Amino acid sequence: MRGKRFPDVTASAPTASGLVRVRIAVETPQHSGLGDPLDYLSEQLLTPGTLARVPLGRREVTGIVWDDAPATAAARPAPGDLRSVAEVFRDLPPLPSAWRELVSFAAGYYQRGVGELAVSVLPAELRRIDAATLARRVATLRKNARDPGSGAAAPPRLPELAPAQEAALQAIAQARTDEAAPVVLLHGVTGSGKTEVYLREAERVLASGRQVLVLVPEINLTPQLEARLAERFAGRRLVAMHSGLTPAQRLRHWLLAHLGEANLVLGTRLAVFAPLPRLGLVVVDEEHDASYKQQEGARYSARDLAVYRGRLEKVPVLLGSATPSLESWQRALKGRYRHVSLPGRIGGGVLPRVRFVDMRALPRVKGSGGALAPQLVAAIHERIARGEQSLLLLNRRGYAPVLHCMDCDWKSDCPHCSAWRVFHKADRTLRCHHCGFTQRVPRACPACGNPDIQPVGRGTEQLEEQIGELLGDVNGRPARVARIDADSARAKGALEALLASVHAGEVDVLVGTQMIAKGHDFRGITLVAAVNPDAALFASDFRAPERLFSLLMQAAGRAGRDAAQAAGSEMWVQTWHPRHPLYEALRRHDYEAFAASQLTEREVAGLPPFTHLALLRADARNADDAPAFLRAAAQAAGALDGADAVKIYPPVPAAVARVANVWRMQMLIESPSRAALQRVLAGLRAPLLELRAAHRGVLRWAVDVDPLAI
Ligand code: ADP
Ligand code: ZN
Ligand code: ZN
Repeated sequence: MRGKRFPDVTASAPTASGLVRVRIAVETPQHSGLGDPLDYLSEQLLTPGTLARVPLGRREVTGIVWDDAPATAAARPAPGDLRSVAEVFRDLPPLPSAWRELVSFAAGYYQRGVGELAVSVLPAELRRIDAATLARRVATLRKNARDPGSGAAAPPRLPELAPAQEAALQAIAQARTDEAAPVVLLHGVTGSGKTEVYLREAERVLASGRQVLVLVPEINLTPQLEARLAERFAGRRLVAMHSGLTPAQRLRHWLLAHLGEANLVLGTRLAVFAPLPRLGLVVVDEEHDASYKQQEGARYSARDLAVYRGRLEKVPVLLGSATPSLESWQRALKGRYRHVSLPGRIGGGVLPRVRFVDMRALPRVKGSGGALAPQLVAAIHERIARGEQSLLLLNRRGYAPVLHCMDCDWKSDCPHCSAWRVFHKADRTLRCHHCGFTQRVPRACPACGNPDIQPVGRGTEQLEEQIGELLGDVNGRPARVARIDADSARAKGALEALLASVHAGEVDVLVGTQMIAKGHDFRGITLVAAVNPDAALFASDFRAPERLFSLLMQAAGRAGRDAAQAAGSEMWVQTWHPRHPLYEALRRHDYEAFAASQLTEREVAGLPPFTHLALLRADARNADDAPAFLRAAAQAAGALDGADAVKIYPPVPAAVARVANVWRMQMLIESPSRAALQRVLAGLRAPLLELRAAHRGVLRWAVDVDPLAI
């Protein structure tokens, strides 16, 4: 197909004027009531998937020629009323039909406009560029495309597969022959050799001339895997897709994927929409990770779409995790996914021993802002003396979550949100983590003038300070403590620098939020401690225990990664509930037992994966507007066909009810049948648009299908 122009194919019958009508997906806001592809006139017939510039209102925008779903003549404006296509991107191959099908499905399932979603998942640069410039870019990329296998490298030396890896690959091969589009859940603790299994499957797929898509949850985790893929597949072209790229890089990588020049695409959730003409394998690493769910616009789950895409394009999908999502686990139990497990760490490395500190037994120290058990401090001390590193996990940044006046009970609340402002000691500010409102810490209580206002509770900043003081000198110098969280990693390059100093052994104790629990291949860490994880045991969100278990298992996986030190490695948990079943399962590294107990609870309570949920969210400045809108929506839903198959709950405030002076309400819609839920949501689209017009006070509304947090 190189260099060839694409044939113009009939999209609909020519009109009397010789112009033809084409349907083009353009970015129209969902709330405008449009969202379906629009009709335009074209001098030529255009192949579906072709990109074109078209007028929209007073602007000219990039759109995609969509399928020719013929609307009835009556519903379509007469040709005279239609506007004409301005420019066609002839030198870019049309987006494949499988791509359009994926986008159509996602738009329907997540209740967004097709055009809105289709255009939003294209590189932004593509929406600005003109056809001639794009043609030049495409030509250059094609000219410079390396011949795969030529030049860069000796064949990499492959490790001899462990028996469990051999068995896993055989099971995957079996699944491939049995099923048109197998989904394999690869379950194994960190270090069990999952990535090596991905690499072997990828190698097979690449050798057959096809493309591989690898998804990771977070951009921070791409460099490691990118390095490993690049080393293994030195003769192949690998491109990354994530939000850290410049617009020009993003366009270039997207074009390489779409033109079939890239052999491997490694990316975060958006990459699930990468057009790949010869897709042969999809890998979703850490499939349980919440980052796969988009939290604004079309709230899609890239993991779920990857599975859909695999089925659509009849290619295998590998889902990997040490702690699979209960949705995926349930499907594996039911035989819908093939379950393949890697039972232990490669090379027989043991998992860290899990120890619990019963905090009830500690003497209470007033005003200490949260205790660190002396035995934990002593254990860290010992590790440092031996030249080993420790990691302290605390999922709360800042110095203290709130400042408090003991005299008048003033607390550092945010005037704009229903939340406390967090005390940040480094720059002496009170900062709202929801709306960003920041002020200098007052010298005295703003309400009564008491100069003695106290931090309550503890964040990572305080933990960093506290552990440094408690450890004092070790080996004749002060213990070196570093902190990694969203604050310390904010500046460009800061995270890389911090990680590098940990890897270089310049840090004795690393303090941080969940950012440090995931994925990092720290070699010197032999002790990991969760300082205060109990809150999630009793959180109102039913997924909180699942997330906690997964986080702690991941954190445990940071200890003893170097086989020589694995035997002495430990995971400490400070808890007031040492007998909690979640911790019992953690003690035994027993995901299966944890999953079984959670699934039983969920089934009894009628929660996912045994039921399907959608949240209708509405925001308004006036406290009454959003609930009124949601109640009206509930009424409209109740009147729809099939409404008896869903249950609609009364509107409730979101977890943080007010943010930046906006009230946030939500309403849960539930059904044991996914299809029934989808029917009601689809039926609700038109009524919602009408309601929105009648409820002017509502700033935004959105449907969140399969919400992760409720
Ligand atoms: P996971 O993805 O489950 O964390 P990896 O595939 O990254 O596991 O393997 C963990 C470590 O063991 C890595 O350093 C990897 O290079 C190494 N490894 C994986 N498979 C083998 C093998 N068969 N022989 C030797 N080392 C291996
Ligand atoms: Zn006061
Ligand atoms: Zn605020």
